[in-house]
Amino acid sequence: MADKVKVNDISKECDQVSHVEPADLPPLPDPYNRPDNVPDWKPLTDKARESYVSDLDDTIALSLPKPKTKEEEDELVRKFLSGLEKLFTKENNWTFLQPLTLSMENCAKCQTCSDACHVYEMSGNNPLYRPTYRSDVLRRVYFKYLKPGGKFFGRWRHGPIDLNWKTVLRLAELAYRCNICRRCAMTCPIGVDNALIAHDLRKLFSQEMGIYAKELHDNGSVLQLKVGSSTGMNPEVVKDNVEFIDEDTSEMTGLEIKTPFDKKGADILLIHNAGEIMAWPENHGAFATIFQAAGLSWTLSSESMDALGYDNINYGLFYDDVMLAKVAIKHAKAAANLGVKKIVLGECGHAHKALTVIADRVLTGSLNIPRESSMTLLHDIVFSGKIKLDKSRNDFPVTLHDPCNLVRAMGVVMPQRRILKHIAPQFREMTPHGVENYCCGGGSGFAIMSGHNFEDWRMHVSGRKKMDQILKAFEGQLDPSIDKYVCAPCSNCKGQIRDLIKYWDMWEKSHINYGGLVELIVNCMVDAKPGFIQWEMH
Ligand code: SF4
Ligand code: SF4
Repeated sequence: MADKVKVNDISKECDQVSHVEPADLPPLPDPYNRPDNVPDWKPLTDKARESYVSDLDDTIALSLPKPKTKEEEDELVRKFLSGLEKLFTKENNWTFLQPLTLSMENCAKCQTCSDACHVYEMSGNNPLYRPTYRSDVLRRVYFKYLKPGGKFFGRWRHGPIDLNWKTVLRLAELAYRCNICRRCAMTCPIGVDNALIAHDLRKLFSQEMGIYAKELHDNGSVLQLKVGSSTGMNPEVVKDNVEFIDEDTSEMTGLEIKTPFDKKGADILLIHNAGEIMAWPENHGAFATIFQAAGLSWTLSSESMDALGYDNINYGLFYDDVMLAKVAIKHAKAAANLGVKKIVLGECGHAHKALTVIADRVLTGSLNIPRESSMTLLHDIVFSGKIKLDKSRNDFPVTLHDPCNLVRAMGVVMPQRRILKHIAPQFREMTPHGVENYCCGGGSGFAIMSGHNFEDWRMHVSGRKKMDQILKAFEGQLDPSIDKYVCAPCSNCKGQIRDLIKYWDMWEKSHINYGGLVELIVNCMVDAKPGFIQWEMH
């Protein structure tokens, strides 16, 4: 069925536009290719199928209710068209109008982008997941309804499209089958950005129709603006947690670690993805150990209302420019209130892109505070000689995952690998790597989306290429007697890689562990007690 999916099928009355058969997916390296080792892909429940729009493929990302009346159906189409019109105006698309228009108007239909897309490849080349599929649907609608004379010329030039409520809601779901990793955009010979089209579709749905992933909006941006963090942690909880982290880290390293909070006039405001403080406390512990040992003037912020000081998450990047701007302004305010010289972003890829590249459009005047990646700062510390390192403590196989936002989107490529080459004797690259890396499969918010059976899709399809790359990087050493480490300097990527390891049982079967970059640095600090990295799954 999959190889027969056509663009206009998105409008058709049918049970499901496409289906992915787990047994037909590209094989993974042994032993993960053996049927006994392949986890079940849970089918959608009958209740889910009855309650929500579920006729795109085998999963649901958005839990969209079905329209109950003809009026509701028509209203969906009307709102979509009005949102589409706004998407192509300067006032309403202050971020991406020009590249969006160029991407809509041009495509040579060469499919170079499809070959670059891990979702397409790892779905067994299912046409529904081509980078161009959702773009072609939108392009046909754009030419048919927005361009003068488009009803005739649009069909002739780009093909037919029937715009009905099914087209609209399936397109909303389909915008959440793309990791927005921009690998396809990088390979397009004429610069068409299909990732941007997926992004701006999400934006249209969120800003104009109130359609979004609740993990990103209700439990993400909205919660963050309300309490200070999308984890739900208020300042008191964060300060308590950090106090415990300091105590644990002091015990583990033998060094007296004390994290400064709200230090006015410090050189650096360090903002973590708050997920680190909750789920991976050793990451903050390692940052604090390194910064303290290097003698930096730094602080965390506990602001949560006027400013957002302790959670660098900005999920607006994935789906909504208004939410992005609101959160970015509050991040900059936290630095302005403390009078620091710069913000340093902890190990979180999307936070880097949100607060540096994209927020450049909104952080003006006194809010335009310098922002730096922790990767470059750590590079300077490691090569300054301020901390003594003994790389023999890291003598186990290590590979590096390149977070798309940090590496492909921003060009922060070399600092982290120079550090790894310096401190990890058995470091090896994945193939390919650097700006040609593959997404972890959790990008664009997927790492925190697991409703219905979306996790099964994420683990079998979008995360499959990364899993394949990890296993191949450790080829010949998959035996569980050898401890191995995937370094993923990004909170979201780390969450996805953790989920992959657990779902596919890669800790038990192959002793593949994961973590950030700072943990490896502290693990080999001469002044710290050995054994900072814990060889257990968490
Ligand atoms: S690579 Fe570019 S031109 Fe070719 S099909 Fe993809 S988007 Fe179109
Ligand atoms: S952005 Fe990434 S996941 Fe999305 S279509 Fe392009 S290559 Fe595929």
